[in-house]
Amino acid sequence: MSFVVAIDGPAGSGKGTITKLVGDKLNLINIDTGAMFRCVTLDMLNKNIGISEEQKIVDLLDKIDIDLREENNKQKVYLNGEDVTLEIRTQKVNNFISPVCQLKIVREKLLNLQRKLAEGKNVIMEGRDIGTTVFPNADVKIYLDATPEERATRRVKQNKENNIECSYEEILNSIKSRDYQDSNRKIAPLKKADDAVYVDSTNMSIEEVTNTIIDIIRKKQ
Ligand code: C5P
Repeated sequence: MSFVVAIDGPAGSGKGTITKLVGDKLNLINIDTGAMFRCVTLDMLNKNIGISEEQKIVDLLDKIDIDLREENNKQKVYLNGEDVTLEIRTQKVNNFISPVCQLKIVREKLLNLQRKLAEGKNVIMEGRDIGTTVFPNADVKIYLDATPEERATRRVKQNKENNIECSYEEILNSIKSRDYQDSNRKIAPLKKADDAVYVDSTNMSIEEVTNTIIDIIRKKQ
């Protein structure tokens, strides 16, 4: 038996931070599905594979090894054995990720991987389509939102902390463009599941959002 908490929402809505805090508090394994899409994108960029080179993408997906680990209380992402935790967050990856996420073969591969990672475990999984597609029967579904401006401000701060250079305008435009592409793609678009609880975090502190979500989960446990 497994217990699944699905956290969906747009880029920069705070899913990463909140999922980690809630997961630690309630002893749920944290699975960041965006990191998995980022790994596929980075692997394609590193290997110079274009979006229409289907056979090369199939081969890449056959061999890809994505490992999400926790080390010293920090989420680490390994791609084919290499630590790519910071590299997958760069603008280079952001700029190329949307078309990659629209590819059926990529979504199918990661959907299977995501379901396998949760088998028999208690997990909190964050993404765009967890409550609608990956786990339509999840025990708890949350849709976490915030205005694009607030999300851009948070991303700039997060990048600064990781010594990644960026401008507010560039980040805001990238967020708006990813919102549009995530919400309008044909397969598994970003969408609130009918039975998800909507949480608008624009004017909430991290602690308030965390406590709100913990309360929602505890009522279902
Ligand atoms: O959450 P994060 O911003 O790291 O996600 C990176 C990209 O991966 C998003 O822009 C989105 O296009 C894609 N994604 C997705 N489905 C998921 C998680 C992320 O399409 N379940």
